[in-house]
Amino acid sequence: MEVLIVGAGPAGLTAATVLGRQLRRVLVVDAGAPRNRGVGESHMLLTRDGADPAEILRIGRAEAAAYPGVELRRGVVESVTGAAGAFTAIVSGRPVTAALVLLAGGQADQVTGPPGLADRWGRGVYHCGYCHGHESAGLPLGVLATRPQDAVLARYLADRFSDDVVLFTGGSIALDEAARALLDAGGVRVTAEPVTRISGAEPELVVELAGAPPVPRARLFHRPEATQASPLAARLGCEIDPGWATVLVDPRQESSVPGVFAAGDCAQLRGLPAPAGFIAAGAGDAQRAAVWLESALFAASLGAGWPGADRPGAG
Ligand SMILES: Cc1cc2nc3c(=O)[nH]c(=O)nc-3n(C[C@H](O)[C@H](O)[C@H](O)COP(=O)(O)OP(=O)(O)OC[C@H]3O[C@@H](n4cnc5c(N)ncnc54)[C@H](O)[C@@H]3O)c2cc1C
Repeated sequence: MEVLIVGAGPAGLTAATVLGRQLRRVLVVDAGAPRNRGVGESHMLLTRDGADPAEILRIGRAEAAAYPGVELRRGVVESVTGAAGAFTAIVSGRPVTAALVLLAGGQADQVTGPPGLADRWGRGVYHCGYCHGHESAGLPLGVLATRPQDAVLARYLADRFSDDVVLFTGGSIALDEAARALLDAGGVRVTAEPVTRISGAEPELVVELAGAPPVPRARLFHRPEATQASPLAARLGCEIDPGWATVLVDPRQESSVPGVFAAGDCAQLRGLPAPAGFIAAGAGDAQRAAVWLESALFAASLGAGWPGADRPGAG
């Protein structure tokens, strides 16, 4: 293979399509657990606003697979070793060689809150005001805090979408004076009792509290810790942002390991304050990655060597 792509989400499939169009031989391996699985509708992808994310992927797989050089395979990339020009991966127990690698495995949200929370993840419980704020306009909203900065999210939702927002701190998230002033000024109520359960039959959603009456909400926003969906980047030695757990990439989407590129939710342009974490943004990054992967393949075919050969200490 010329390029191994880890992950067939929007990022991996976009890169595969670009490379397939350049008549490259590409293997795309996918474990079948996209970040937004279970979500009924997804927004902000031009021509597909409101579409079922599973349908977006179904169309994307069909488009990528239509190019003869693109092979889609269900499985897990268990390891990648070697260097640019000669990587070896173990894919569901079997070796695969590739000149270059694109990591597009996404991130995994660690939804570990009170009982019932994970069941409603993506169905009434969301992490992002861009993806699901508009559909929440005018409704009673809650923010289940995981960190003090969630006070800003609560205030944001109150300013943009609803005059009925409750911030649930669970008693374990301490808010300083500035945060309290921010919330007061936005009309956000704060509930400090421990959250014991998220209940209610869909679309109902009830936040149960220890020592206080339950609070019905139409939507709950919650930002759990996110990690790399796959340990590959860390094992390869790619530099990872300690705060966002994203693979840091240069403007060509190449990681700190020559020949290993990354795009989509798993990656972040070095210097950006935060990753974007959207379908179209990831696809755009992946298109850029594919162009530079193609450039590296072409340069190598002209005898210019593989990425890293010109870097101090590489090769
Ligand atoms: C609740 C929720 C709602 C969202 N709503 C929206 C929305 O409305 N609009 C929007 O733009 N974005 C939305 N998002 C964000 C969107 O889901 C992501 O931005 C997008 O899925 C990222 O695409 P990706 O290709 O980087 O990764 P993913 O879509 O996560 O795909 C990565 C794929 O790689 C696979 N994989 C990982 N490791 C390996 C491995 N080692 N071997 C093989 N395969 C592997 C995974 O199983 C997965 O199938 C939402 C996210 C969540 C959690």
